[in-house]
Amino acid sequence: MDNRVEFVEIEQPCDMHVHLREGELLRSVVRDSARSFDTILVMPNTRRPILTGKDAEDYRLEITQWTPGLNVVSAIYLTPETTPDLIEAAAKTGVKAVKFYPRGATTNSGHGVRLETLGDPWSALEPVFDTMAQLDLILCLHAEDPDVPLLERETRALKTVTALATRHPRLRIVIEHATTRAAIEVVHGWSNIWTTITAHHLVLTTNDVVGNHHHLCMPVAKSEDDRRALLDASMSGHPRILFGSDSAPHLNATKNRAQGAPFGIYSAPVALPLLVGVFAAYGRTDHLQQFVSDAARELYDIERRPRGTTARRVVYKPWTVPNDQDPHWFWADRRLDYALA
Ligand SMILES: [Zn+2]
Repeated sequence: MDNRVEFVEIEQPCDMHVHLREGELLRSVVRDSARSFDTILVMPNTRRPILTGKDAEDYRLEITQWTPGLNVVSAIYLTPETTPDLIEAAAKTGVKAVKFYPRGATTNSGHGVRLETLGDPWSALEPVFDTMAQLDLILCLHAEDPDVPLLERETRALKTVTALATRHPRLRIVIEHATTRAAIEVVHGWSNIWTTITAHHLVLTTNDVVGNHHHLCMPVAKSEDDRRALLDASMSGHPRILFGSDSAPHLNATKNRAQGAPFGIYSAPVALPLLVGVFAAYGRTDHLQQFVSDAARELYDIERRPRGTTARRVVYKPWTVPNDQDPHWFWADRRLDYALA
Protein backbone atom coordinates (compact mmCIF):
# COMPACT_ATOMS: atom_id res chain seq x y z
CA MET A 1 0.00 0.00 0.00
CA ASP A 2 1.40 3.35 -0.98
CA ASN A 3 0.49 6.00 1.55
CA ARG A 4 2.67 8.66 0.04
CA VAL A 5 1.55 12.25 0.58
CA GLU A 6 2.91 15.02 -1.62
CA PHE A 7 3.46 17.43 1.24
CA VAL A 8 2.54 18.16 4.83
CA GLU A 9 2.35 21.55 6.43
CA ILE A 10 2.74 21.80 10.18
CA GLU A 11 1.76 24.96 11.94
CA GLN A 12 4.29 26.07 14.57
CA PRO A 13 6.16 22.76 15.01
CA CYS A 14 7.65 22.33 18.48
CA ASP A 15 10.60 20.23 19.63
CA MET A 16 10.07 20.01 23.36
CA HIS A 17 13.38 18.37 24.27
CA VAL A 18 16.60 19.39 22.60
CA HIS A 19 20.25 19.72 23.62
CA LEU A 20 22.08 22.60 21.98
CA ARG A 21 25.29 22.60 24.04
CA GLU A 22 27.36 25.81 24.24
CA GLY A 23 29.78 27.98 22.29
CA GLU A 24 31.02 26.74 18.91
CA LEU A 25 29.01 23.53 18.96
CA LEU A 26 25.81 25.42 19.74
CA ARG A 27 26.52 27.77 16.88
CA SER A 28 26.96 24.88 14.46
CA VAL A 29 23.81 22.95 15.46
CA VAL A 30 21.16 25.48 16.43
CA ARG A 31 20.24 26.38 12.86
CA ASP A 32 19.35 22.75 12.19
CA SER A 33 16.70 22.99 14.91
CA ALA A 34 15.47 26.37 13.70
CA ARG A 35 15.06 25.08 10.16
CA SER A 36 12.54 22.45 11.28
CA PHE A 37 11.00 23.96 14.39
CA ASP A 38 9.39 27.20 15.40
CA THR A 39 9.61 26.50 19.13
CA ILE A 40 12.05 24.44 21.18
CA LEU A 41 12.42 23.50 24.82
CA VAL A 42 16.13 23.58 25.44
CA MET A 43 17.66 21.28 28.03
CA PRO A 44 19.76 22.76 30.86
CA ASN A 45 22.49 20.12 31.20
CA THR A 46 25.13 22.22 29.53
CA ARG A 47 28.70 21.89 30.79
CA ARG A 48 28.03 24.93 32.94
CA PRO A 49 24.50 23.91 33.95
CA ILE A 50 21.49 26.24 33.69
CA LEU A 51 20.52 26.53 37.34
CA THR A 52 18.68 29.84 37.67
CA GLY A 53 16.38 32.17 35.78
CA LYS A 54 19.37 34.39 35.04
CA ASP A 55 21.33 31.46 33.57
CA ALA A 56 18.31 30.59 31.42
CA GLU A 57 17.98 34.17 30.19
CA ASP A 58 21.67 34.34 29.23
CA TYR A 59 21.42 30.99 27.48
CA ARG A 60 18.33 32.08 25.54
CA LEU A 61 20.27 35.13 24.32
CA GLU A 62 23.24 32.98 23.31
CA ILE A 63 20.89 30.77 21.29
CA THR A 64 18.83 33.46 19.61
CA GLN A 65 21.82 35.51 18.50
CA TRP A 66 22.27 32.81 15.82
CA THR A 67 18.58 32.15 15.22
CA PRO A 68 16.61 35.34 15.88
CA GLY A 69 13.19 33.91 14.95
CA LEU A 70 13.44 30.80 17.09
CA ASN A 71 11.02 30.68 20.04
CA VAL A 72 13.08 29.32 22.93
CA VAL A 73 11.33 27.86 25.97
CA SER A 74 13.64 27.54 28.96
CA ALA A 75 14.17 24.93 31.62
CA ILE A 76 16.41 24.97 34.66
CA TYR A 77 18.26 22.05 36.17
CA LEU A 78 16.91 20.56 39.43
CA THR A 79 19.70 20.01 41.94
CA PRO A 80 19.76 19.29 45.68
CA GLU A 81 20.31 23.05 46.11
CA THR A 82 17.17 24.14 44.23
CA THR A 83 14.85 26.11 46.55
CA PRO A 84 11.27 27.44 46.29
CA ASP A 85 12.69 30.99 46.11
CA LEU A 86 14.91 30.03 43.21
CA ILE A 87 11.90 28.49 41.44
CA GLU A 88 9.84 31.63 42.01
CA ALA A 89 12.60 33.86 40.67
CA ALA A 90 13.06 31.60 37.63
CA ALA A 91 9.32 31.65 36.86
CA LYS A 92 9.46 35.47 36.82
CA THR A 93 12.10 35.39 34.08
CA GLY A 94 9.89 33.16 31.93
CA VAL A 95 11.30 29.74 32.77
CA LYS A 96 8.58 27.15 32.18
CA ALA A 97 10.13 23.86 33.18
CA VAL A 98 12.46 22.22 35.66
CA LYS A 99 14.47 19.22 34.54
CA PHE A 100 15.15 16.28 36.80
CA TYR A 101 18.21 14.14 36.02
CA PRO A 102 18.82 11.14 38.23
CA ARG A 103 22.44 11.63 39.22
CA GLY A 104 24.69 9.63 36.90
CA ALA A 105 22.00 8.60 34.40
CA THR A 106 23.27 10.39 31.28
CA THR A 107 25.48 13.16 29.82
CA ASN A 108 26.18 15.95 32.34
CA SER A 109 23.86 14.54 34.99
CA GLY A 110 26.40 14.87 37.80
CA HIS A 111 24.49 17.78 39.36
CA GLY A 112 21.24 15.83 39.53
CA VAL A 113 19.48 14.38 42.54
CA ARG A 114 18.94 10.76 43.41
CA LEU A 115 15.83 9.14 42.00
CA GLU A 116 14.66 8.03 45.45
CA THR A 117 14.25 11.71 46.32
CA LEU A 118 11.13 11.79 44.15
CA GLY A 119 9.52 8.86 45.95
CA ASP A 120 10.37 10.18 49.38
CA PRO A 121 7.59 12.31 50.90
CA TRP A 122 10.04 13.76 53.43
CA SER A 123 12.48 14.86 50.79
CA ALA A 124 13.85 18.39 51.04
CA LEU A 125 12.57 18.97 47.50
CA GLU A 126 8.88 18.63 48.45
CA PRO A 127 8.46 22.41 48.93
CA VAL A 128 10.08 22.89 45.52
CA PHE A 129 7.47 20.64 43.90
CA ASP A 130 4.67 22.48 45.76
CA THR A 131 5.95 25.82 44.48
CA MET A 132 6.24 24.47 40.95
CA ALA A 133 2.64 23.25 41.06
CA GLN A 134 1.45 26.63 42.33
CA LEU A 135 3.32 28.50 39.61
CA ASP A 136 2.44 25.99 36.87
CA LEU A 137 6.05 25.07 36.21
CA ILE A 138 6.43 21.71 34.57
CA LEU A 139 8.63 18.93 35.88
CA CYS A 140 10.50 17.23 33.06
CA LEU A 141 11.79 13.87 34.17
CA HIS A 142 14.57 11.75 32.84
CA ALA A 143 12.81 8.66 34.17
CA GLU A 144 15.57 6.12 34.57
CA ASP A 145 16.97 4.38 37.60
CA PRO A 146 20.73 4.32 36.96
CA ASP A 147 21.27 1.61 39.59
CA VAL A 148 19.69 -1.24 37.59
CA PRO A 149 20.63 -2.87 34.25
CA LEU A 150 20.27 -0.71 31.16
CA LEU A 151 17.08 -2.18 29.70
CA GLU A 152 15.21 -2.08 33.03
CA ARG A 153 16.03 1.48 33.98
CA GLU A 154 12.89 3.18 32.70
CA THR A 155 10.35 0.65 33.97
CA ARG A 156 12.05 0.65 37.37
CA ALA A 157 11.77 4.43 37.62
CA LEU A 158 8.04 4.53 36.83
CA LYS A 159 6.92 3.53 40.30
CA THR A 160 8.76 6.48 41.76
CA VAL A 161 7.32 8.79 39.13
CA THR A 162 3.73 7.73 39.82
CA ALA A 163 4.29 8.08 43.58
CA LEU A 164 5.28 11.70 42.97
CA ALA A 165 2.33 12.26 40.63
CA THR A 166 -0.06 10.89 43.26
CA ARG A 167 1.38 13.08 46.01
CA HIS A 168 1.27 16.20 43.82
CA PRO A 169 -1.88 15.96 41.69
CA ARG A 170 -1.51 19.57 40.55
CA LEU A 171 2.10 19.17 39.46
CA ARG A 172 2.36 18.50 35.74
CA ILE A 173 5.01 15.90 35.02
CA VAL A 174 6.55 14.95 31.70
CA ILE A 175 8.25 11.58 31.32
CA GLU A 176 10.91 12.58 28.83
CA HIS A 177 11.77 10.38 25.86
CA ALA A 178 9.60 7.39 26.79
CA THR A 179 10.95 4.12 25.41
CA THR A 180 8.63 1.49 26.89
CA ARG A 181 5.03 0.32 26.66
CA ALA A 182 4.98 0.59 30.46
CA ALA A 183 5.70 4.33 30.32
CA ILE A 184 2.87 4.87 27.83
CA GLU A 185 0.51 2.97 30.14
CA VAL A 186 1.48 5.31 32.97
CA VAL A 187 0.57 8.32 30.82
CA HIS A 188 -2.84 6.78 30.15
CA GLY A 189 -3.36 6.12 33.87
CA TRP A 190 -2.36 9.48 35.39
CA SER A 191 -4.01 12.69 34.26
CA ASN A 192 -1.05 14.80 35.44
CA ILE A 193 1.57 12.83 33.52
CA TRP A 194 2.60 13.67 29.95
CA THR A 195 5.34 12.16 27.82
CA THR A 196 7.64 13.17 25.01
CA ILE A 197 8.62 10.65 22.36
CA THR A 198 11.66 11.03 20.09
CA ALA A 199 11.82 10.30 16.36
CA HIS A 200 14.67 7.80 16.75
CA HIS A 201 12.75 5.67 19.26
CA LEU A 202 10.03 5.26 16.64
CA VAL A 203 12.48 3.55 14.29
CA LEU A 204 15.08 1.82 16.51
CA THR A 205 15.09 -1.21 18.77
CA THR A 206 17.88 -2.56 20.96
CA ASN A 207 19.05 -4.68 18.01
CA ASP A 208 19.83 -1.53 16.02
CA VAL A 209 21.89 -0.10 18.86
CA VAL A 210 24.19 -3.06 19.16
CA GLY A 211 26.93 -2.53 16.60
CA ASN A 212 26.19 1.13 15.88
CA HIS A 213 27.31 3.57 18.54
CA HIS A 214 25.55 6.37 16.63
CA HIS A 215 22.32 4.78 17.85
CA LEU A 216 23.40 4.85 21.46
CA CYS A 217 21.45 7.23 23.66
CA MET A 218 19.83 7.28 27.07
CA PRO A 219 17.32 5.78 27.47
CA VAL A 220 18.47 3.10 25.08
CA ALA A 221 15.93 1.87 22.48
CA LYS A 222 13.96 -1.14 23.71
CA SER A 223 12.04 -4.05 22.15
CA GLU A 224 9.89 -4.21 19.03
CA ASP A 225 6.80 -4.40 21.26
CA ASP A 226 7.88 -1.20 23.02
CA ARG A 227 8.50 0.49 19.68
CA ARG A 228 4.97 -0.48 18.55
CA ALA A 229 3.56 1.11 21.70
CA LEU A 230 5.47 4.33 20.99
CA LEU A 231 4.26 4.38 17.39
CA ASP A 232 0.63 3.89 18.44
CA ALA A 233 0.97 6.53 21.16
CA SER A 234 2.56 9.19 18.96
CA MET A 235 -0.02 8.70 16.20
CA SER A 236 -3.02 8.45 18.55
CA GLY A 237 -3.71 12.16 18.86
CA HIS A 238 -3.53 11.84 22.64
CA PRO A 239 -3.42 15.29 24.28
CA ARG A 240 -0.62 14.34 26.70
CA ILE A 241 1.77 12.82 24.18
CA LEU A 242 4.12 15.21 22.42
CA PHE A 243 7.25 15.32 20.34
CA GLY A 244 10.69 15.94 21.81
CA SER A 245 13.65 14.99 19.63
CA ASP A 246 16.26 14.62 22.39
CA SER A 247 18.66 15.64 19.65
CA ALA A 248 21.99 15.53 21.47
CA PRO A 249 25.07 16.43 19.41
CA HIS A 250 28.59 15.33 20.23
CA LEU A 251 31.54 16.18 17.99
CA ASN A 252 32.78 13.10 16.15
CA ALA A 253 36.17 13.13 17.86
CA THR A 254 34.36 12.61 21.17
CA LYS A 255 31.53 10.38 19.99
CA ASN A 256 33.92 8.01 18.18
CA ARG A 257 36.15 7.38 21.18
CA ALA A 258 36.79 3.67 21.73
CA GLN A 259 36.38 4.09 25.49
CA GLY A 260 33.67 6.06 27.22
CA ALA A 261 31.89 7.38 24.12
CA PRO A 262 29.12 9.74 25.24
CA PHE A 263 25.41 8.99 24.83
CA GLY A 264 23.31 11.00 22.43
CA ILE A 265 21.91 10.97 18.91
CA TYR A 266 22.10 14.06 16.73
CA SER A 267 18.71 13.99 15.02
CA ALA A 268 17.82 17.68 14.60
CA PRO A 269 18.58 17.79 10.84
CA VAL A 270 16.37 14.79 10.03
CA ALA A 271 13.79 14.48 12.81
CA LEU A 272 10.90 16.26 11.11
CA PRO A 273 11.23 14.57 7.68
CA LEU A 274 11.68 11.23 9.45
CA LEU A 275 8.51 11.77 11.49
CA VAL A 276 6.54 12.69 8.40
CA GLY A 277 7.75 9.48 6.72
CA VAL A 278 6.71 7.35 9.71
CA PHE A 279 3.28 8.96 10.03
CA ALA A 280 2.74 8.77 6.27
CA ALA A 281 3.61 5.06 6.22
CA TYR A 282 0.72 4.47 8.60
CA GLY A 283 -1.61 6.92 6.87
CA ARG A 284 -1.68 9.14 9.98
CA THR A 285 -0.27 12.46 8.79
CA ASP A 286 -3.55 13.96 10.02
CA HIS A 287 -2.22 13.52 13.60
CA LEU A 288 1.18 15.12 13.05
CA GLN A 289 -0.07 18.58 13.97
CA GLN A 290 -1.27 17.31 17.34
CA PHE A 291 1.93 15.41 18.13
CA VAL A 292 4.46 17.95 16.87
CA SER A 293 2.72 21.13 17.91
CA ASP A 294 -0.73 21.28 19.51
CA ALA A 295 0.04 19.05 22.52
CA ALA A 296 3.13 21.13 23.29
CA ARG A 297 1.41 24.48 22.84
CA GLU A 298 -1.31 23.42 25.24
CA LEU A 299 1.03 22.04 27.92
CA TYR A 300 3.58 24.85 27.85
CA ASP A 301 1.06 27.59 27.12
CA ILE A 302 3.06 28.67 24.10
CA GLU A 303 1.93 31.84 22.45
CA ARG A 304 0.19 31.08 19.19
CA ARG A 305 1.83 33.15 16.52
CA PRO A 306 -0.10 34.34 13.48
CA ARG A 307 -1.20 31.48 11.30
CA GLY A 308 1.05 30.87 8.33
CA THR A 309 4.13 32.70 9.56
CA THR A 310 5.51 29.83 11.61
CA ALA A 311 4.60 26.81 9.50
CA ARG A 312 7.07 24.30 8.11
CA ARG A 313 6.42 22.42 4.91
CA VAL A 314 7.74 18.92 4.34
CA VAL A 315 7.53 17.51 0.82
CA TYR A 316 7.89 14.10 -0.80
CA LYS A 317 11.45 14.21 -2.11
CA PRO A 318 13.58 11.11 -1.49
CA TRP A 319 17.18 11.77 -0.45
CA THR A 320 20.04 9.96 1.24
CA VAL A 321 21.17 11.37 4.58
CA PRO A 322 24.86 12.38 4.35
CA ASN A 323 27.48 10.42 6.23
CA ASP A 324 30.19 13.07 6.37
CA GLN A 325 28.80 15.51 8.92
CA ASP A 326 30.27 16.56 12.25
CA PRO A 327 28.36 15.99 14.49
CA HIS A 328 27.29 12.81 12.71
CA TRP A 329 23.65 12.97 11.57
CA PHE A 330 21.19 10.35 12.66
CA TRP A 331 20.03 8.05 9.82
CA ALA A 332 23.25 8.65 7.85
CA ASP A 333 23.50 6.68 4.60
CA ARG A 334 19.81 5.80 4.86
CA ARG A 335 17.04 7.00 2.59
CA LEU A 336 14.38 9.46 3.72
CA ASP A 337 11.31 9.91 1.54
CA TYR A 338 10.57 13.42 2.79
CA ALA A 339 12.56 16.63 3.00
CA LEU A 340 12.06 20.14 4.31
CA ALA A 341 10.76 22.36 1.53
ZN1 LIG B 1 17.85 14.65 26.66
